[in-house]
Amino acid sequence: MEQQIITELKRLVGSDYVMEQLEDRICYSFDATFRDFPPDVVVKPGNVEEIAAIVKLAGKYRLPVTARGAATGLSGGAVPVQGGISLVLTRLNKILAIDTANRVAVVETGVIAEDFVNAVSQAGLFYPPDPGSIKTATIGGTIAECAGGPRGVKYGITRDYVLGLEVVLPDGRIVEVGNRFDSEMAGPDWGMLFVGSEGTLGIVTKAYLKLIDKPKAKQTLLAVFNSLDDAARTVSEMIASGTIPTTLEIMDNMTIRAVEDFLKVGLPVNAEAILLIEVDGSAKAIAKQAEHVIKVCRQCGATEMQVASTPEDMDKLWRARRAISPACGKINPTKISEDATVPRSQIPAMVRRLREIAQKYNLKMVIFGHAGDGNLHPNILSNKHDHAEMERVEQAVAELFKEALHLGGTLSGEHGIGYMKAPFLKWETGETGFAAGKKLKQVIDQQELLNPGKLFNV
Ligand SMILES: Cc1cc2nc3c(=O)[nH]c(=O)nc-3n(C[C@H](O)[C@H](O)[C@H](O)COP(=O)(O)OP(=O)(O)OC[C@H]3O[C@@H](n4cnc5c(N)ncnc54)[C@H](O)[C@@H]3O)c2cc1C
Repeated sequence: MEQQIITELKRLVGSDYVMEQLEDRICYSFDATFRDFPPDVVVKPGNVEEIAAIVKLAGKYRLPVTARGAATGLSGGAVPVQGGISLVLTRLNKILAIDTANRVAVVETGVIAEDFVNAVSQAGLFYPPDPGSIKTATIGGTIAECAGGPRGVKYGITRDYVLGLEVVLPDGRIVEVGNRFDSEMAGPDWGMLFVGSEGTLGIVTKAYLKLIDKPKAKQTLLAVFNSLDDAARTVSEMIASGTIPTTLEIMDNMTIRAVEDFLKVGLPVNAEAILLIEVDGSAKAIAKQAEHVIKVCRQCGATEMQVASTPEDMDKLWRARRAISPACGKINPTKISEDATVPRSQIPAMVRRLREIAQKYNLKMVIFGHAGDGNLHPNILSNKHDHAEMERVEQAVAELFKEALHLGGTLSGEHGIGYMKAPFLKWETGETGFAAGKKLKQVIDQQELLNPGKLFNV
């Protein structure tokens, strides 16, 4: 990169916050996917004005800008596939207000999601979106990916809690979109345009987020199955029966074994599948819901039901769920994590097809995920240095996307499109939908600077 640009960037944010050496750039070349592309320079701005100035500078020199939160993304959104500036947003780390009267929080987007959730809880309220990466992911990353999580089945996902946003547009102007509180608004909700836009339409610098009442009590249950098919069927039966648990997570046998091997928490390693179910509400309501959950699970073939009786038992089960990623990482070095999502009623069919696909391509596949949302996470455990295996992985991934769409689902329930799914996006949108998405991108970002190579920007 020209020294002139580096000098100008250092003048804008201070030389401590501009990194140009290869060893630094390599640290910002990857996310939780498996390919790496180093940026030409890493810049860590401290406020919205600096971001606006950086984006204007990028426009002047026609440099790509890739926003980066904590880089836990599973579709490669934060990977600067065309080089340019890696714009690291972690210095925007202030919770500006938790307004309990209006039930709104105002937060800078580099704040870690769990820090925010904890601060809201201390104020006596609740912010439900809870991606598995909550301890690391930033609020900006969760907005840009429209993150979901186990609680999505009852409480919805990030878009359900975004009221308004402050955004730096691709030409460097700063704009507020949406609302500052929960009400009707004048005109369309432009804020939603940026939710799930993966850093391709603007840099989100501040968010107005909706807060809700904290549930008074909760109960965690574990249902054990001898058949993955029965577990999958339980999910659709449960929702059809009118009971919406807070979470409804599935783990297949290979996942159970991997986690037990990693954590030793006493999971039933001979089970073909388990469902981890949580209900919440008033003490009276959860007792009734738990009773109903047990009844439906048993009717669908659960061989054993465990009810966590202490907070420690509940924590143990949730630690097991959170340990899936590191546990699988121990089996094979490259974890291809998909989140093809189908309508709940199609979960049994999708689970069957996933197993067939794994067998057909001779791949190790674990199946787990937010089954209550229809959001399965088939993870292929492979080795990126084994080229023959990676070719089979590519074919298997294409086939599982086709299957999800065939069953009325989507390529991505929550992980986004990034560079990894961009080649498949047209399968879902169709030519016209894709052309419209691309046109919108070109109207907002005329120089196509923000996050090239992702979503419609290919
Ligand atoms: C172990 C593990 C578990 C996970 N579990 C879940 C889960 O349950 N649910 C789920 O939805 N996801 C999950 N994820 C995926 C990932 O954590 C989420 O997508 C998360 O929201 C990404 O946040 P981040 O700060 O790491 O964003 P990054 O990875 O840094 O960036 C993601 C995208 O957002 C853009 N971006 C980041 N910040 C901004 C900003 N301020 N303005 C504009 N664009 C921005 C980037 O350019 C990129 O396109 C998981 C990941 C891992 C590794």
